[in-house]
Amino acid sequence: MLVAAGFRGPLSSSAFLQMARSALTGFMAGFLLLVVSGQLKTMAGELVAIWIVDGYLLGHSMVLRRRKKLVFLFGAYVGVLLGNLAGDETLYVASSFTFAGVVETCAAALMLSGVKSARQLMQPSVFIRFLLAGCIIAPVLSGVVAVVLLQGIFTSHPFSNFSNWVISDSLGFLIFTPVTLVLLSGEWRTLLEPRNRGRSAALLTLTGIVATVVFLHSSYIGLYWMLPPLALLAFHAEFSTVLVGTLLFICISVPLTIHGTGPLWLLPFETMQDRILALQLFFVAALSIVLPITVLQTQRNALLSALSEGQRRFRSLAERSEEVLMELSADGAFQYVSPRAKAVLGYEPEMLWGTLLLGLVHHDDKDRLQNLLRDACVTTEEEFAQYRLRRADSTFIWVRSFIVAMPSATPGKRAALAFTVRDVDGHVVAEHQRNAEEKRLMDMAFVDGLTGLRNRRYLDRYVENLMSSQFDAMTCRGVTVLFADIDYFKSFNDTYGHHSGDECLTAVAHCIRRTLRSSDLLARYGGEEFVAVFESCGQEKAAQLAELVRKAVESMTLDHQGSPFGYVTLSIGVAQGDFCSKADLDGLFVLADSALYVAKRAGRNRVETAWN
Ligand code: GH3
Ligand code: MG
Ligand code: MG
Repeated sequence: MLVAAGFRGPLSSSAFLQMARSALTGFMAGFLLLVVSGQLKTMAGELVAIWIVDGYLLGHSMVLRRRKKLVFLFGAYVGVLLGNLAGDETLYVASSFTFAGVVETCAAALMLSGVKSARQLMQPSVFIRFLLAGCIIAPVLSGVVAVVLLQGIFTSHPFSNFSNWVISDSLGFLIFTPVTLVLLSGEWRTLLEPRNRGRSAALLTLTGIVATVVFLHSSYIGLYWMLPPLALLAFHAEFSTVLVGTLLFICISVPLTIHGTGPLWLLPFETMQDRILALQLFFVAALSIVLPITVLQTQRNALLSALSEGQRRFRSLAERSEEVLMELSADGAFQYVSPRAKAVLGYEPEMLWGTLLLGLVHHDDKDRLQNLLRDACVTTEEEFAQYRLRRADSTFIWVRSFIVAMPSATPGKRAALAFTVRDVDGHVVAEHQRNAEEKRLMDMAFVDGLTGLRNRRYLDRYVENLMSSQFDAMTCRGVTVLFADIDYFKSFNDTYGHHSGDECLTAVAHCIRRTLRSSDLLARYGGEEFVAVFESCGQEKAAQLAELVRKAVESMTLDHQGSPFGYVTLSIGVAQGDFCSKADLDGLFVLADSALYVAKRAGRNRVETAWN
């Protein structure tokens, strides 16, 4: 294990080797680029149109992690220093140039920390940061450092040196930082993608040809002819192609201008420095058209691909989903129906588009669903509905829907509804059958098998419910209890047999049921006894009702030789009163029973009352 000074943790030997490799790469890059730039400088008469070194070093350092970045930049600027010294600069001049470069690259790197690819760099907010940092602040800072340190050493006017320095360094960053990022982050591969290949090659060829023609000719000013191919590149090519195209243009225009041809030789520049400055300004103007368009196009392409990816994902989910996904307009017309509609409802989705959902809804469910749709449009809550929909074969199936409003982006426009439809027919039909079966079993448990009236168990349950609803209401309530018993029934059985006795019981039960109101409870209490319970209706009315029952049975004149009356008769005891507790209610039952007993003792076939 080795410990590197200035770093947080100890380094393993392999990490140390990697660091050494980064330093060496930086050294080689710094040295070679400086030598190449020195050659370009000499060719251009001590001035260079674009300063490659710092743009490249910034781009390269951006793809490295923090530790490697520092080591790389350290190695690079050692290389730059040696390159300067090798170019016959004095130690002071070489150190000043190197220091200005360090200030420039480190300032730009600090301001662009976190940016690791050209695609990231092309995001509008990052690109603006890049323009500010790489193209204005860092070059101006290093320009100031250079002018201050090298005062008196440059022969020409300090401002002229300063402007040349700033523009050439800005251009260097503007072109070479993204180019380096494209090369090192592997984004250059998009150039070779089959869908881009042909178009990229055509646009680059066009740019190359136009640049060559324009800069070989010195007979007329054709500089503006460079704009159409550059604009075409910006609008139609991938970001990496745009950079390669711009680089191609620079690689053709700079050497040809230095060589003595091209439109800039038609203008009356006094020195090569002025001519190079004019070329630089043209680059700046061209790039200020091309790069913003490229940034916007890159953003637009990213949005379009995100959109089409979102659509693709939605389609594949919609096709695989068990539910039919729908979009309804606010007035309930289908705007989108997923392909699943074919399997669930039997409709081709296109058949439904524009038609109304309510047109397919079962008549009995229509109002409920219409209200729900109306509510769903004005709430953010998810609504739920279970209803019947007509399939293409005209049968109805039960479906379950979740409905949620999708507010319109256009102000004033009503929300559309996102709608899911799931086939729950099997569940609902099974549930209905289960409910019917439960009801049948309940009926069996609470209905008297012989007469079809409610049985004693039901009466007990009814009385319990009456009590609990009484407690909820917190007030005393009036109730009427009626006890009815067939007279001399034992002897009816003895005379006509048990089977006829059953028929007689049933006939009497039905007669009482018909005479009472449907809201009154009537139960077979046991044997040939019946109990009716109903809301208090006043003593007179209760007595009248009981008399009506007695008369109804009497007027059936069912033959009964075992009775002194000669036909079947009823004795009835009626009790009425307010009850506030279970004891009160039990008391009313006892009273009614006693009244019945009194009726029996008094000769039968009569009504006796007991008022509480
Ligand atoms: P009273 O006038 O005092 O009421 O005399 P009763 O003979 O009607 O009175 P009792 O309670 O002594 O007799 C009731 C009879 O009802 C006894 C029983 O045989 C008969 N009974 C009870 N349940 C049934 C039934 O389900 N079917 C038939 N056929 N008879 C029944
Ligand atoms: Mg009896
Ligand atoms: Mg009896």
